[in-house]
Amino acid sequence: MNAPRPRDVEIPRLLHVGHGSLREVGTLLADHAFDLGHVLVGCGPGPSRALAEGVVDDLRAQGVRVRLHSHLSGRLDQAAALAGEIIEEQVTVAVAVGGGRVIDTVKLAAARTGVDFVSVPTTISNDGISSPVASLAGRDGARASHAARMPGGIVLDISAISSAPAETLRAGVGDLVSNLTACLDWRLAAEGGHERYDAFPAMIAESAARPALELTEVTSPASQELVAHGLLLSGLAMAAAGTSRPCSGAEHLVSHALDSRLAGGAALHGEQVALGTLVAAAAHRSPLLVPLQELFRRLGLPTCPEDLGLTRAQLATAMQAAPGLRPDRWTILTDRCARPGDAEELVAEAFPPAHSPVRQFAR
Ligand SMILES: [Zn+2]
Repeated sequence: MNAPRPRDVEIPRLLHVGHGSLREVGTLLADHAFDLGHVLVGCGPGPSRALAEGVVDDLRAQGVRVRLHSHLSGRLDQAAALAGEIIEEQVTVAVAVGGGRVIDTVKLAAARTGVDFVSVPTTISNDGISSPVASLAGRDGARASHAARMPGGIVLDISAISSAPAETLRAGVGDLVSNLTACLDWRLAAEGGHERYDAFPAMIAESAARPALELTEVTSPASQELVAHGLLLSGLAMAAAGTSRPCSGAEHLVSHALDSRLAGGAALHGEQVALGTLVAAAAHRSPLLVPLQELFRRLGLPTCPEDLGLTRAQLATAMQAAPGLRPDRWTILTDRCARPGDAEELVAEAFPPAHSPVRQFAR
């Protein structure tokens, strides 16, 4: 009979967070025994391109053979094409330099071809920078999550992060604090017998998120490092759990329901998740609701549906649809949005009209 063994968790063998670390990617990869036989660097067509080109130049200066892909935008067909190229050109390491869309495209291509993947985020707007999950848009434009693998390496340049638009950092905070409501859902799901609770990943996810509740700004390097560390740990929590559960509950389902409703007008993932986090905290009748509202007000994250250009009725419709998007994942909304009229009632509870004067959402 086999004795129970501790679980295996994939932890990146290279983690480097620093100022100006984009210039050190080549050296770091060589020092951490990545096979630099043929490196693929992926980026988007926007501002990350210049940063990726710097990484390519440094690698070439070290005598490394490199190919650059500069048009990645988070589409499933791009990941498939990239996977084909990785096989055909015998790529040994795939490096993503950019935001979440670039990272997820390269992450999935690398995972499906079994080559090493290195995440070099230039924005920290969500926890995909270190997670084993890739969220990509299919042929119909709808985004869906795909199982991938943890990056083998993560190189995070605080200087690059701080020059990214402020809303990306705020969105990162939104995605980070959503761990708190996600774990409330997880525990309740376990109490109801819907799922098994796993205390270690939940502890990592909650400990990663809690310091963010105290943030008063996202412009100082110290705050940016706090958010970066929190999001990196969130990825680790998902890897340890083997599911996105510790970082994704009702608030994420609300955000996914908004994705399909807002289509081209969708806000950043972390901004939508922030609104969903308020809904979830209210649904749980959690004391977290007040500190979350205060945090979002301080940072300029949405504190009511109007801040995202939504009416209360539109948000209620999204909340009603949310549980059906993922019936296998029990959340508080499974219970609290079960009957017609429930969602409207919950919206009124979460966003009392007297406390939500019309404000300009700082973007
Ligand atoms: Zn998220």
